[in-house]
Amino acid sequence: MTRLLGVIGHPVAHSLSPAMHAAALRALRVDGVYTAIDVPPAFLRPVVRALMLAGVEGLNVTVPLKERALHLADQLDPAARAIGAVNTLVIRRGKLLGYNTDAEGFRRALIEDTGADLRGGRVLLLGAGGAARAAAWALAGMGVQTLWIMNRTRPRAQSLARWVVRAAPRRAGRRLECVVVPYAGRRAAAGLLAQADAVINATSLGMRAGDPSPIRLKGVRRGTVVYDLIYHRETALVREARRRGCVAATGASMLLYQGAESLRLWLRRPPPTGAMRHALQQALWGQAPGGMTTGR
Ligand code: NAP
Repeated sequence: MTRLLGVIGHPVAHSLSPAMHAAALRALRVDGVYTAIDVPPAFLRPVVRALMLAGVEGLNVTVPLKERALHLADQLDPAARAIGAVNTLVIRRGKLLGYNTDAEGFRRALIEDTGADLRGGRVLLLGAGGAARAAAWALAGMGVQTLWIMNRTRPRAQSLARWVVRAAPRRAGRRLECVVVPYAGRRAAAGLLAQADAVINATSLGMRAGDPSPIRLKGVRRGTVVYDLIYHRETALVREARRRGCVAATGASMLLYQGAESLRLWLRRPPPTGAMRHALQQALWGQAPGGMTTGR
């Protein structure tokens, strides 16, 4: 029987997931379809119930439904519970299981694209929204020692810092030190940058062509890892990082690996990441030439 999968969001027409997952199903020779379904937030519950009745086996969940989907699930994995957002729903024996693969996608992307080993390291995280939350959780799990959080709206940064210290996984019992640092805007935060092992952009600056970089990298050390969650293009931040000798990558690999982890949960077999990467690259090229770039 044809396996039914998809992504729900509002809007969702722009999503690159159908291209990536269609390629995966083809590569695995699975008889299946993966489609984008626009679901206004008010209709989330009835639409998901209807999709379950129609035999859908798995769904990705994107903006603005990730937090709401948490309340639909019969069971949650530890990442979804801790982060407070579901990006993957698995339907098994009539039950709705909620997962968050964003944090794992970010962790894998960082390692595969930049070779980062951040155990005991110092990281500057820009942003304090949903993506920053998943990144902070992953960074704590990777054994980062010090996390500096910088965000335009300081109370959001403070709330993220309190949450991550409380909720994040600890490595070898080590406690994460989390510090909210003043928002520097375009001014240099040279003191911090000189000490940082990695700089992560989890703000939405860079989504639109012509967006400025969220920070100037003056003072950054050569070899510092710079990862920009923006996947739409090579951002001003990534360009500057490369000019300064940093190991930099865009968020396309995070998109890839969060999708690969979702597929693993639905099909219970290893995802074909090569085919998925290729399809994503093509789709990104279609949207903005120069789309998918890696650090190494
Ligand atoms: P969000 O919850 O709306 O948070 C947006 C963040 O960006 C906030 O910290 C916000 O600061 C900051 N921001 C927005 N405009 C800004 C500006 N003009 N100057 C400085 N800071 C600004 O969004 P999100 O879900 O966290 O997503 C953030 C970005 O990550 C999006 O661009 C999304 O595409 C990307 N993302 C990528 C992946 C991937 O797989 N690669 C996955 C998830 C998200 P304030 O708190 O001050 O408003």
